[in-house]
Amino acid sequence: MRRSVGICFLVLLLLFAPVFGGAAGDRVLCVGMRGADVAALQGLLVELGHELAVDGIYGEQTEGVVKRVQRLAGIKEDGIAGPDTRRVLGDPKSSIIPYTVQSGDNLSQLARRYNTTVSVLASYNRLSNPDRLLAGQVILIPPASLAVLGRPRPKLIWPVRGPITSGYGQRVHPITKARHFHGGIDIAVPQGTPVKAAANGRVIKAQAMGNYGLGIVLDHNGYTTWYGHNSKLLVRPGEKVRQGQTIAQSGRSGLATGPHLDFRIKIGDQTIDPLK
Ligand SMILES: [Zn+2]
Repeated sequence: MRRSVGICFLVLLLLFAPVFGGAAGDRVLCVGMRGADVAALQGLLVELGHELAVDGIYGEQTEGVVKRVQRLAGIKEDGIAGPDTRRVLGDPKSSIIPYTVQSGDNLSQLARRYNTTVSVLASYNRLSNPDRLLAGQVILIPPASLAVLGRPRPKLIWPVRGPITSGYGQRVHPITKARHFHGGIDIAVPQGTPVKAAANGRVIKAQAMGNYGLGIVLDHNGYTTWYGHNSKLLVRPGEKVRQGQTIAQSGRSGLATGPHLDFRIKIGDQTIDPLK
């Protein structure tokens, strides 16, 4: 009897999930809650490979899986599915993939398949013997950004030489006066100064980028370098560039008080301090 009630509840949830999914999607979910949005969360977790009943009831099992995802993603491990957790789950680049080892698999094969390295997988999973995987064992594939962090950071050269007029970190924007995080460093250079590729790489963007002006983005094996406020772009997307090659002429396009290069380094959407 109890069981059939449960099944009935689940069927109702599945019927109404598409209707209520969007409207109720913004609730912060935690233990004790029920609803289509809980079922949607559970469905997402199952899709990502976690073992979980999709019953629309936020119980200890769901809390446990949410905590595990939070721990692996490096966000607050409170078992509550709020905006941060949704962001992690919603962004496939930052999601953890549990992989069940098949007989014949080895770590270097998996590393290649998931675009990471043997040492990242070994340390992420605390594998004492990376040469020996057992069929049925679950290996967690870390978020892409963590996988990239495990790679050697490219050796960079300065794209231009000049005084740093604004560093990386919190600042008051010179034009908008808004307090915000500056994800790059501004290097003051005269208009038309050759801007050099900081490392060997491939052009993934060369275009107008709003406030960032005429910008270029180069990829270096998962790390990207960004060059903003140029007056002229000299490369196109898809092109390979060599370290030191002139890729643009500096300028003051976009939102800039004067001619300068705004130089950034990123992994995925995350900026890192170029001076560290
Ligand atoms: Zn800047």
